[in-house]
Amino acid sequence: MTPGGGIVPTTQDDAPAPPEAEGVIAARIEQVRARIRAAEQDAGRPSGDVALLAVSKGQDAGMIRAAHAAGQRAFGESYLQEALDKQRRLADLADIEWHFVGRIQANKTRSIAASFDWVHSLCDLRHATRLNDQRPAGRPPLQACLQINLSGESSKAGLEPAQVAEFLAACRALPRLRIRGLMTLPAPTDSFATQRIPFLALRRLRDGVATPASPLDVLSMGMSDDLEAAIAEGATIVRLGTAIFGDRTRPGH
Ligand SMILES: *Cc1c(COP(=O)(O)O)cnc(C)c1O
Repeated sequence: MTPGGGIVPTTQDDAPAPPEAEGVIAARIEQVRARIRAAEQDAGRPSGDVALLAVSKGQDAGMIRAAHAAGQRAFGESYLQEALDKQRRLADLADIEWHFVGRIQANKTRSIAASFDWVHSLCDLRHATRLNDQRPAGRPPLQACLQINLSGESSKAGLEPAQVAEFLAACRALPRLRIRGLMTLPAPTDSFATQRIPFLALRRLRDGVATPASPLDVLSMGMSDDLEAAIAEGATIVRLGTAIFGDRTRPGH
């Protein structure tokens, strides 16, 4: 395009979201917020009790920019390289809160510790130790949720409920990590009553392991199809991707 070698956008990511995308995303965020408010009210919980995490994995930076323009500040990512790439493109938006929700790998902990405010998927004590040791000085402690596997399937990520108390005790020695609560990712089911079962189990697990020093006030649970059930059982963060952004555009997600 510029024969003189000028700077041209090399990927779609460099372009802002088209204006029509901004309107669509703003409308979807408003719909999701209305669902959250209604669920809070049905559960007898104060309005504003539940935070919305916009899971932007597989979406271009322009989509995050559009959601930010609609007032969204917390974004979740699952793939480190993709996240770092978008963070660089969005460096001008200094008030974004970045949450890592994907599988943690030991060789990625340094970057996660440096580039995220939260992790939701902590379930390995070696990773906890590394994140603690690698959290840069001058940044507040990394906020973390322990991912819990409630289905008992060994193929699924997460701690078994019986491992949580010991894991929490070990984390007390890690001052650069602040364990805020528990996270779960149950298999989808369609009835409200069935959806509630794992969310109730997560809340009871939390009630059983919380202490005054570590109240575990965060329950990260609930997605597009089950956020009402999660909020009924005490969710404080719901994680939504496609309900806000539509289908993921990047391959491999
Ligand atoms: C992708 C993802 C979500 C959001 O899923 P959608 O189907 O896009 O709403 C929530 N939580 C985690 C951990 C995820 O990986």
